[in-house]
Amino acid sequence: MKQRVELTWLSQAEVVSFVDGLGEPAYRGRQIFAALQHRRLRSFDQMTDLPKEFRARLNEVARASSLKIESHYISSDGTRRYLMKTHDGLPVETVYIPEEHRDTICFSSQSGCPLQCTFCLTAQLGLLRSLTSGEIIEQVLIALNDAYGVGVRPPRGTNLVGMGAGEPFLNFDALLNALRIMADPSGLYIVPNRVTISTAGIVPRILDLANVPDRPHLAISLAAPTDELRNELVPINKRWPLEELLKACKVFEQTLKPGERFTFEYVMLAGVNDSEQHARQLANLLNRHGLKTKVNLIPHNPAEPLPYQPSTDETVARFKSILESKGVHTYVRRPRGRDIFAACGQLAARQETLNTCKEITSAGVPN
Ligand code: SF4
Repeated sequence: MKQRVELTWLSQAEVVSFVDGLGEPAYRGRQIFAALQHRRLRSFDQMTDLPKEFRARLNEVARASSLKIESHYISSDGTRRYLMKTHDGLPVETVYIPEEHRDTICFSSQSGCPLQCTFCLTAQLGLLRSLTSGEIIEQVLIALNDAYGVGVRPPRGTNLVGMGAGEPFLNFDALLNALRIMADPSGLYIVPNRVTISTAGIVPRILDLANVPDRPHLAISLAAPTDELRNELVPINKRWPLEELLKACKVFEQTLKPGERFTFEYVMLAGVNDSEQHARQLANLLNRHGLKTKVNLIPHNPAEPLPYQPSTDETVARFKSILESKGVHTYVRRPRGRDIFAACGQLAARQETLNTCKEITSAGVPN
């Protein structure tokens, strides 16, 4: 049987060309694109403005959605974590974080992750597979439908962060295609300026991104100021050590346009990478490369069986003040959704009964 075409990963022009192949006029393609990406409908049967026979034909040859929600959890701070499944049964996790002036959706770019960062639970899954552009976009559609109702316009702006499961730069083309589709004003209309992508340091893709005109903001997950420690915490460092990584960062920094954000993320692990010496080494490293880039300190989110604990507030404050005394602009990120294992490094497709949060199974949750 011929495989059905996934329409969520097609641009508006591609949907128009797809319906042209079915003998339908261009406006039908635009109608379907808007139904999927703007009205956030998840099946052709919901598109009642299309003729019934055409809907039946679409059901035979195409798919309007492929991800399904398995379960979702709501944190005491309003953060929601979704565990979804792909059509071939693989886990995908997404986190929705409401804030005063905007919402942030943290999406996954892969199911599992091939990198072996030792402070991250996702690493323990290994790589199951990279997600398609459609699967990246669907995470956003599902989270918005769940938060506001199908097709309801969010009252605040939506920011996206590619900091869920997976290394986004190992799924570079699908990621950029998803961002292009989401930026379409007839669809979700989330422009790259509202998106931040985090990488563990895939140097060739950092250099590629430097040449992309409409690109998202970039964040580099640093985690250590020396190769010796980074080889241990972020093993991809053995392939692209700090010197090479920071040289690429400098090239990228030189291409920054006004208003673009470029940051280093530094997870703070108690007794591992949070000493005063580490702070000085980090400041010296960035200064030696002439990088003006801001550093985000992220207190580690504990996740069994990982052997790490978060640095204390005093240690984080001391670390910050040393960096700032050496001219490095530093910010401390507040963890969200820790009680539902939705915070950075905690995503591992776990499905547990939690005392502190509400679990809602897929029944009643709009896909
Ligand atoms: S921190 Fe990111 S890159 Fe590293 S293992 Fe976890 S998901 Fe992969």
